[in-house]
Amino acid sequence: MTPTGPSMNVSATRKRKVLISGASISGPALAYWLHRSGCAVTVVEKAGAPRDGGYPIDVRGTATEVVRRMGILPQLRDAHIDTRRCTFLDADGGEVASLTSRAVAGGAEGQDLEVRRGDLAAILYAMVRDDVEFLFDDSIATLDQSGHGVDVTFHSGQRRTFDLVVGSDGMHSPTRESLFGPEEQFHHYLGYCFAVFTMPNTFGLSRELMVWNTPGKAAALYAVGDDDELHAFLNFHRPEPPVDVLRDPGAQRDLVATVFAGAGWEVPRMVNAMHDADDLFFDTAGQIRMPHWSSGRVTLVGDAAYAPSFLTGQGSSLALVGAYVLADALARNRDHTAAFAAYERGVRKFVAMNQALVDNGAATFFPTTARALEQRNTMLRGLDTMPSATARPAHSALALPEFAPMP
Ligand SMILES: Cc1cc2nc3c(=O)[nH]c(=O)nc-3n(C[C@H](O)[C@H](O)[C@H](O)COP(=O)(O)OP(=O)(O)OC[C@H]3O[C@@H](n4cnc5c(N)ncnc54)[C@H](O)[C@@H]3O)c2cc1C
Repeated sequence: MTPTGPSMNVSATRKRKVLISGASISGPALAYWLHRSGCAVTVVEKAGAPRDGGYPIDVRGTATEVVRRMGILPQLRDAHIDTRRCTFLDADGGEVASLTSRAVAGGAEGQDLEVRRGDLAAILYAMVRDDVEFLFDDSIATLDQSGHGVDVTFHSGQRRTFDLVVGSDGMHSPTRESLFGPEEQFHHYLGYCFAVFTMPNTFGLSRELMVWNTPGKAAALYAVGDDDELHAFLNFHRPEPPVDVLRDPGAQRDLVATVFAGAGWEVPRMVNAMHDADDLFFDTAGQIRMPHWSSGRVTLVGDAAYAPSFLTGQGSSLALVGAYVLADALARNRDHTAAFAAYERGVRKFVAMNQALVDNGAATFFPTTARALEQRNTMLRGLDTMPSATARPAHSALALPEFAPMP
C-alpha cells in the first residue's frame, strides 16, 4: 500500500528540496538538521562567504543541548571566550563594581558558552559545506508560490523550483518583507540605538568588559581573549527611533558624536575611533514579533522571525533552537502546513519567554534615569559579595524532542 497524507514517511518519497536564505547561524544549523533528515538543501547567502566578525554571542541552556546533539560542543568549548570580569564605571570612570560575567548575565556555571559570532558561524558552516549546496554572492529576487512548489528567481538570473523556502536572513529579512510586507509592522522598538565597531586595544585590557554609564547612555569596551583589538559599543536611549539616519552612515556617526559630546572616561577616544572605523554597525535595539512565521511553503527562522535583540543575549540560542525544532517538525510531517504549525507550537512559548528577558538586560546595562542607575549600582554592589547568579529559567525552558529518526 502506498502511504499518503500528512503522516506519510519521508523515506517513502523523493527528497524534499529546500532553499535557505542566509548563511549565518540559523541557516547552517537548519541546513545540518534538514540534510540529516534526508532533504536536498541549498543555502543562498548574499555575502561572498560566511561573514566573520560581530560581538561575542552566547549559547545557553536548550541551545547548548542543540550543539551537543550536533557534535560541536567540544569545538565550541575550545572557542569559549571565558571573560574574567565585568567592571562597571561611573560618569568619571570611577569603579562601581567588578563582577564575574556570569554574575551579571545569569549563566549556568561550566555549561554556557560565549564565543565570537564569526567562530560559531564558521564551525556551523564547516559542519555542512560538503553536504549542502551553497550559493554565495547571490540572493532571492522573487518567490512565486502559484504552482506546486516555490519558483525562485535569483538576482544572478538563475531560476529554480524548491518544495520549501526558509528565510534565515536576519532581523531585516528580505524574505519576511517579500512575504509579509514592511518590517515596521513587526519591529518592536526597545528605546535604544547603538553603534558597534572595533578599535585598537591601547588600554591593555585582557579578557574583560568595561561598562561606563550615565543616565540613558552607555559605553563599553570588550577585550575578547588577548586580542589587540577591542569591541567598542556606544548605546543611548531615544524614545523614538531615528528613522532618518538609519540608511546614512555619515548621519549615524554625527548623531552618536553629538549624543556623547562632553562625556567622561575614555568615551572621547571611542568617538574618535568610531569616526575612523571601517566596520561601524549602527542600528536600533528592537525585537521582531509576528503573529505567524509561515505563509504557504515559505517560513522564517532565527532573527528573521523572532529576533529578541542583543539586550536578551539570546539571539543565537533562539536561532539554534528554532532551527532544530523546525527541522524536526519537517522530518515528522510530510505536509509542510502541519510541519510549520508544529514548529510554531513547539517554539513560540520559548521565544516569548526569552523576548520577555529584555527588561532585565535593559535595566542592568542601560538604565535611563539617575534613579534607575543608582538602583542598578546598588544591585551590582550587592552582587559583588554574592556567589554567581543562577541560570535564567527562560534559557532552558524548552525540552527538546529526540530528533526524528533517520529516514
Ligand atoms: C556580520 C554580523 C555581525 C553580527 N554581530 C552581532 C553582534 O555583535 N551581537 C549580536 O548579538 N548579534 C550579532 N549578529 C546577529 C546574530 O548573529 C543573530 O542575532 C543570531 O545569531 C541569529 O542569527 P540568524 O542566523 O538568524 O541571523 P543573522 O546572524 O543576522 O544572519 C543573517 C544572514 O543572512 C544574510 N542575508 C541577509 N540578507 C540576505 C539576502 N537577501 N539573501 C541572502 N542572504 C542574506 C546575512 O548576510 C547573514 O549572513 C550579527 C550578525 C551578522 C550577520
